[in-house]
Amino acid sequence: MPTDHVDVLIVGAGLSGVGAACHLQQDCPGKTYAILESRAAIGGTWDLFRYPGVRSDSDMFTLGYAFRPWKDSTSIADGTSIRRYIEDTANEYGVVDRIRFHHEVVSAAWSSDDARWTVTARRTDTGETVQLTCSWLSVCSGYYRYDEGFRPRFEGEERFAGQVVHPQHWPEDLDVTGKRVVVIGSGATAVTLVPSLADDAEHVTMLQRTPSYILSLPGRDPLAQVLRRRLPATVAYPIVRWKNVLFSTAFYQFSRRRPAAARRLLRRLTQKQLPGVDVDTHFNPPYNPWDQRLCLVPDGDLFRALRAGKASIATDRIASFTEKGIALASGEHLDADVVVTATGLNVLAMGGMSLTVDGAPVDLAETVSYKGMMLSGVPNVAMVIGYTNASWTLKADLVNRYVCRLINHLDRQGYVSATPVAPPEGGDEPFLDLSSGYVQRSLARLPRQGSRTPWKLHQNYLRDVALMRKGPLDDEGMTFQRAGAGTERSAA
Ligand SMILES: Cc1cc2nc3c(=O)[nH]c(=O)nc-3n(C[C@H](O)[C@H](O)[C@H](O)COP(=O)(O)OP(=O)(O)OC[C@H]3O[C@@H](n4cnc5c(N)ncnc54)[C@H](O)[C@@H]3O)c2cc1C
Repeated sequence: MPTDHVDVLIVGAGLSGVGAACHLQQDCPGKTYAILESRAAIGGTWDLFRYPGVRSDSDMFTLGYAFRPWKDSTSIADGTSIRRYIEDTANEYGVVDRIRFHHEVVSAAWSSDDARWTVTARRTDTGETVQLTCSWLSVCSGYYRYDEGFRPRFEGEERFAGQVVHPQHWPEDLDVTGKRVVVIGSGATAVTLVPSLADDAEHVTMLQRTPSYILSLPGRDPLAQVLRRRLPATVAYPIVRWKNVLFSTAFYQFSRRRPAAARRLLRRLTQKQLPGVDVDTHFNPPYNPWDQRLCLVPDGDLFRALRAGKASIATDRIASFTEKGIALASGEHLDADVVVTATGLNVLAMGGMSLTVDGAPVDLAETVSYKGMMLSGVPNVAMVIGYTNASWTLKADLVNRYVCRLINHLDRQGYVSATPVAPPEGGDEPFLDLSSGYVQRSLARLPRQGSRTPWKLHQNYLRDVALMRKGPLDDEGMTFQRAGAGTERSAA
């Protein structure tokens, strides 16, 4: 089997993978690279999800790349616009030519003797197996399974005469005009779907077991609207971006430090939007703000649909499906023609690929993450995962730039690899700190993290900017290796 070699291999052509390629071209211009993408398209999440109304739930000035302005004044953008932004970036930077579509990476094997990864991919169009070698592997595979969303089974489903759909596999021809729709769930997907479906459906009911905190923000950024009329996009964009970073960081810190006050504030804002609605039942989660991701709704679209009577909320448990809909534990019955199971994702780390280091399998759960982006004992691999409490790209950009710094450092110092080590006390904290079901279901399969830098990720962009852009590369968590020689401990 012929084996190509590239300096850097990127897995995934979504927001992170395209960003990784752009950073590499700018900061390591001499390096060769390729992107292996299992699907036939660029965009990842923003190409896969096609349910009505699909949109970002964080602002585009921070979800966009630091190096390429989001030029629209829409702060919360629809899926098509985000996909186009990623595609346009890939075209503008000449990244498209480096993508090999239909290549699903299934395994990667590190050889210390060769200081290389041998990466095996399965062609999803022909079934053929392909191998490449690389010196550095950047895994930008997102965080969930593409083939299957999380879909619990409900009692009596087979009796239901209507249609059941999952947002991850939305049927292109589904028309809800005049139909009664029940959306099961209370997360970002459910709150997006409800107002969007309510435009056509006879009625939409959001059926939630546990409420979420929901905050309305302007769909268009007022500052961006003013600045883009007066300043070039390259000047206006970083201003709005930093304003949003500071606002979201401040709100997150306020929520963590003064949860009772944050809860009161969110309750007051919701009550103002929904006079007469029982907010203490439907918008009063049992957890504190930011224990789970806060749901943002642009211009209060969900609240508008509720006020107009086009949609309603039921906070209850499902007793069973019936022929005509869903029977609830309270004894009520929701009639439905269509049930949407907005029940979430199946978290998947490293795109499901298996890793070996010198023949020994890597068990992710046994590793400790380093700066939230590398794994103890695993050389020359970055895992690009975004923030849980802010826009994904803020962190993906930091990681992708850090990788370039590290690769340049290896070259300058004559090293061939960089391998993180676990802290002496081990990894005593979970990798993600959200209490959401999809996170809790996955923690046992994910790396751990430490309780201090550089093994702890603080989920704080301002701290991470200092750590990742200017912080030392040779800190106590990192070791470096020369060709054919032993490991060198960092100088720190
Ligand atoms: C509905 C939805 C809405 C979201 N909204 C927001 C938001 O508003 N703000 C925010 O910050 N985050 C949001 N997220 C998180 C979102 O995933 C990130 O914003 C971002 O799109 C992640 O980009 P990515 O490139 O890292 O991963 P993805 O978009 O998941 O792309 C990963 C790519 O890797 C490919 N891939 C995976 N495994 C392999 C493999 N083994 N071999 C080859 N290719 C592989 C996939 O096919 C895909 O193209 C949302 C997620 C979802 C599902």
